[in-house]
Amino acid sequence: MKDLQRITEPLTTWYEQNKRPLPWREGKSPYAVWISEIMLQQTRIEAVIRYYARFMQALPDIESLSRVEDDRLMKLWEGLGYYSRARNLKKAAQMIMTDFGGVFPRRYEDIRKLPGIGEYTAGAIGSICFDLPVPAVDGNVLRVISRLTGSRENVLLPQTKKRIIELLRDIMPQNAGSFNEGLMELGEVVCLPMAPMCEKCPLRAYCAAFSNDLTAELPVREKQMKRKRVQKTVFILSAPDDRIAIEKRPDKGLLSGLYQLPNIDSELTEEAIRNTVRSWGLSTQSITFVKSAKHVFTHIDWIMNAYRVEVTEIGGSFLWVTREEMSEHYPLPTAFLKLLK
Ligand code: SF4
Repeated sequence: MKDLQRITEPLTTWYEQNKRPLPWREGKSPYAVWISEIMLQQTRIEAVIRYYARFMQALPDIESLSRVEDDRLMKLWEGLGYYSRARNLKKAAQMIMTDFGGVFPRRYEDIRKLPGIGEYTAGAIGSICFDLPVPAVDGNVLRVISRLTGSRENVLLPQTKKRIIELLRDIMPQNAGSFNEGLMELGEVVCLPMAPMCEKCPLRAYCAAFSNDLTAELPVREKQMKRKRVQKTVFILSAPDDRIAIEKRPDKGLLSGLYQLPNIDSELTEEAIRNTVRSWGLSTQSITFVKSAKHVFTHIDWIMNAYRVEVTEIGGSFLWVTREEMSEHYPLPTAFLKLLK
């Protein structure tokens, strides 16, 4: 962190000398910065410049935005897509009129409460317009910081973003706006995703990725495998002598070769439970719901409903064992053991 502190001065100096002359950068008006940030959320800068000029001419301030007819607003937004952004802009403008006397709020917490404004946008507006010492971390900033620090943390994970936000919060200089904008600008024009232009970078001397030749590898972006959810009905089949039915799992796959309580990949009703037990060649005496439990494997979650089913006599293709035999000879995976406790 101490090392990262060194970037603040060269970065802000570079930004002040090299920033692109974008229309919303003139005057740091919160209204202008807000509109531009919302437009930029899903749209490229070149396209935004055109729409932005038209929008600002038609609705030059918070009051005019709060009163605009919905149809006119949609027309002004036409071509930008994601129309909920425009609807939220109007709602937020109305909130500013009623709750803040028509003046854009200066406190981070108040900015964050406005419809359509998330953590990043609140940080951007707060720091750019009011120099609030709050980070504004978007994809560009995640990339730049990962490279500068040589971090191999997956930038697609929320915890990585959280850590980078904390890191930046600790080194935020007084001119927080220039610092945040500097990081974003560096990511947009120098520290490019595929081919960073390190020879032009003001932070080259402090960059771990550059000095260790890791610019092609960083940042790490690993898509999480989508977790699968399996709903299960688990049977604690109990014989009159208290023995319990278990069976061996298949030789391949999850928990292969281990023993398990009989189960079905479905959430069964009592009637379906009774029918299933009958299909196993057993007669049900009573069915009692025991508990629900979740078991988390690497890529799969089991959501289990366990039922104790008392049967009239042992049978079926199960092994009927006492609890002692189970713990000594047929260890069950934790997923099932926790249903027996
Ligand atoms: Fe990005 Fe290269 Fe600058 Fe490092 S030196 S921050 S990799 S442009």
